[in-house]
Amino acid sequence: MTGKVYLVGSGPGGLGLMTFRAREVIDSADVILYDQLPGEEIISALPDVEKIDVGKYGGKHTKEQDEIELLMVKYAKEDKTVVRLKGGDPFLFGRGGEELETLRKYGINAEMVPGVTSAIAVPECVGIPVTHRKFASQVTFLTGHEDPSKKDSAINWEWLAGSPGTIVILMGVKNLPNIAKALIENGMKKDKPVAIIERGLRPDQRVTTGTLENIAETAQKKGVKAPAIIVIGEVVSLYKE
Ligand code: SAH
Repeated sequence: MTGKVYLVGSGPGGLGLMTFRAREVIDSADVILYDQLPGEEIISALPDVEKIDVGKYGGKHTKEQDEIELLMVKYAKEDKTVVRLKGGDPFLFGRGGEELETLRKYGINAEMVPGVTSAIAVPECVGIPVTHRKFASQVTFLTGHEDPSKKDSAINWEWLAGSPGTIVILMGVKNLPNIAKALIENGMKKDKPVAIIERGLRPDQRVTTGTLENIAETAQKKGVKAPAIIVIGEVVSLYKE
């Protein structure tokens, strides 16, 4: 079998932050499975080979995860070079880990092509470093997908509220009111600075700032929408409009 699957990170948006290796494997692909997170600039620059849109960002997935994985397997078994293109880095909340497990299970040759993750690059590009010698010696990356009021939450909110440093939340817009509430209830300072960066590194990027206490209301008033990165911590004070 000569087929191979590349799990490729596109970076956070825009061709400039895609790696040379990503470009190289994209140009060698027979088939590209992509979703909307890489963004318009990258998607419209994909080569003229077979392309399958396997997901709609923020809406209902056009294909389920296991269907996507089996599609990769199917094409690889037909000896095709397959690129699975994902936003940011495939292994940070990108389900790349699950896709790799499936490829291994079916004995498919796989190669990982890391990408610049939005979790670091999006705050960075508006001047917010996720760590800083003076403000943060620790950073926690978190999915905001889960409602913190759920009893069996996989996230330890009490620990998080007491932890020093920066918290970076992906997929957290919908649950922001519950997240802010959970952190305050568990003892985090109400005036802790928070920034939300929507559509980072895209032409219509927007930044909203506030405190843990007022950010949910501000976000609602401004109509903040996914995809967005939420940064909580003193490093946010370095942001300048
Ligand atoms: N693997 C990706 C993250 C996938 S989870 C990565 O490494 O970047 C999807 C979430 O990523 C979104 O809900 C949002 O929180 C974040 N995200 C990805 N690209 C973004 C961008 N350009 N601007 C703001 N947030 C982004």
